[in-house]
Amino acid sequence: MKAWQPLGLHMYWLTGEEARQREPALSPDVRAGLYAPEEAQIKAPQVVKAFAQAAANLGATLRSHTRVTGVQHQQNKVTAITTAQGETLACNHLVIAAGAWAAQWSEWLHIKLPVVPQRGQILALRQPATPLRSIIFGEAIYLAPKQDGTVIVGATREEVGFEKHLTAGGVAWLLNTAARLIPSLEQSDIESMWVGLRPKTPDNQPILGTAPGWENVALATGHGSVGILLSAITGKTLAELIVTGTAPELIRPFAVDRPAGSIAADAHSEW
Ligand SMILES: Cc1cc2nc3c(=O)[nH]c(=O)nc-3n(C[C@H](O)[C@H](O)[C@H](O)COP(=O)(O)OP(=O)(O)OC[C@H]3O[C@@H](n4cnc5c(N)ncnc54)[C@H](O)[C@@H]3O)c2cc1C
Repeated sequence: MKAWQPLGLHMYWLTGEEARQREPALSPDVRAGLYAPEEAQIKAPQVVKAFAQAAANLGATLRSHTRVTGVQHQQNKVTAITTAQGETLACNHLVIAAGAWAAQWSEWLHIKLPVVPQRGQILALRQPATPLRSIIFGEAIYLAPKQDGTVIVGATREEVGFEKHLTAGGVAWLLNTAARLIPSLEQSDIESMWVGLRPKTPDNQPILGTAPGWENVALATGHGSVGILLSAITGKTLAELIVTGTAPELIRPFAVDRPAGSIAADAHSEW
């Protein structure tokens, strides 16, 4: 509440009864809740497609399924990247936005990029008989009702390297926790399940700004569990950095060479 209220966002304490008036499917065990009327959600795959389309409309060429295998440079300027298909693509500016795989670039650029993968398992259930109306956060999971009649149940947070697969334990934890909050979800059909890797940094804050020692390399990685939330502001501030050559005030605290513990940790949550 301390972090949200100064931003003008409203939050109200509810008793268990008041919470169930808003969400009748909530468990009778729920004793209290916080109501945040401005809370909202988007569909991440559609946002990514929209960004890609907007970039293409402005003249960008997108190369999907093309793995970068190295960089070429002259002194402190990257001149090209090489790809697994054997191509060499010239570049004026290079932005490292390689998610959980960003640390691979440390070797090529001789800088330390402290990013590790954090696995997230997530699933979609059909809405229960009394459908959920709002996003519900509790017991370290979130339940996000979607317009297509599903409820997203997310997500695990596991540091198991690049092991990107669903596990019985992860799925069981999500289902059991969801059913504790909304008992009628026990009857719901499972629509789908999937897994992803978040790019995690030691202080759980993103890495944004220029790559030390390089004239034309920018870093945009380490967004952890809020990369969708921060996607637009990341694009906007990185574009400003590249065009003006100066890091906007907003992203200066997120430089890769910041001292450990220099950014106050806020309560972050994904949904
Ligand atoms: C289960 C789950 C739920 C989440 N929920 C939310 C949420 O509700 N809200 C939110 O804000 N965030 C959420 N996140 C986090 C969000 O998905 C990430 O923060 C975000 O995707 C990071 O974006 P990115 O572009 O940095 O990395 P990514 O989305 O991982 O994209 C990096 C891309 O770089 C590519 N790449 C890597 N190396 C190379 C290379 N050498 N050559 C070419 N390409 C390369 C990868 O293949 C990948 O496509 C969630 C994550 C998970 C796993």
